[in-house]
Amino acid sequence: MTMERDRGERDYIGFATLPEQVHRKSVKRGFDFTLMVVGESGLGKSTLINSLFLGDLYKNRKITDVQDRIEKTTTIEKKTMEIEERGVKLRLTIVDTPGFGDAINCEDSWRVCSAYIDEQFRQYFTDESGLNRRHMQDNRVHCCLYFVPPWAHSIRQVDLEMMKRLHRKVNIVVVIAKADSLTSSEIKRLKTRILADLEEHQIQVYQFPECDSDEDEEFKQQDRELKAAAPFAVVAADTVLEVGGKRVRGRQYPWGIVDVENPRHSDFTKLRTMLISTHMQDLKDVTQDVHYENFRAQCISQISQHAMRERGKLKRDSMGNNNEVVFTDTDRLLLQKDEEIRRMQDMLTQMQEKLKASDKKHDSIIDV
Ligand code: GDP
Repeated sequence: MTMERDRGERDYIGFATLPEQVHRKSVKRGFDFTLMVVGESGLGKSTLINSLFLGDLYKNRKITDVQDRIEKTTTIEKKTMEIEERGVKLRLTIVDTPGFGDAINCEDSWRVCSAYIDEQFRQYFTDESGLNRRHMQDNRVHCCLYFVPPWAHSIRQVDLEMMKRLHRKVNIVVVIAKADSLTSSEIKRLKTRILADLEEHQIQVYQFPECDSDEDEEFKQQDRELKAAAPFAVVAADTVLEVGGKRVRGRQYPWGIVDVENPRHSDFTKLRTMLISTHMQDLKDVTQDVHYENFRAQCISQISQHAMRERGKLKRDSMGNNNEVVFTDTDRLLLQKDEEIRRMQDMLTQMQEKLKASDKKHDSIIDV
């Protein structure tokens, strides 16, 4: 009996605990998730974010007056909160684009949102290839909730233009705002039109991954329902009401109450399930494997082209202007080395600048 157990223990190498080790390590490190909200002012973006994450992120918000709204360009507002649930820490960052659609010049809004996403990629790229690798923070935008107004008949030109500038950089999840102002058949019609528009204009929004065949039936059913509901028609509310002895987050109208979490009233719960419980990791994976990889590949190709040009120039200079330039393997190797050295120098410069600027805050980003 003892011998059998001894043999059993010896046969057991120990790598079966790897998932637990990975689990423990990730729980200890915590998780980062960044959500960008885009859409015209007044569509209920902040109310929805508060409803989704049960916190009041927008308590100190000032409502701008009309003149302000016309003059203001889009500024990015970034808010971070740490949430803990059953010992798992989530560092959630909400990137709000409050002025979108208010300013007459929409080009500003497009440029600012797209530049913000690029900037986070650039920072990650620098950190990844630098000395700070061990303490990297992932501030890349993992998902963009794009709010479409319920009164539009399909996606408006201004929204299409914005989506075209973002869809290759970030996972776009389209939501129909204030869906309580639409009947069920109007919601259905609007969803169909939105999907057709996205296809016609070849806008690649976030695609839900295929569900694994070994998942249980309940999960598969939930997955089918999520996919069928997109684009999600949502209702949000700041108020908690009492309905039949139960406290619910809802909107009180003269004719009744819209219960935000009731699946018959809106897709709010589906959106929350998707973002938080079922697809958060996939959104992060697609950001890493697709969007960030695109950015990285572009950066590397630009750097190599620049280095090739520089070396070509040097070679032409040393050979006289009319000679054709032929690159040997040694040249290419030298180019690669040049490029590495250049990158290290860039990083050092950036780190020095960062140190200098660490006291100053960037004007257009408010950290809370
Ligand atoms: P934001 O400018 O997009 O962040 O919009 P806010 O969250 O400040 O909401 C603007 C107004 O719309 C507020 O009066 C909200 O109470 C209201 N609102 C928010 N969500 C909904 C909704 O789902 N349905 C309706 N009918 N009103 C909403």
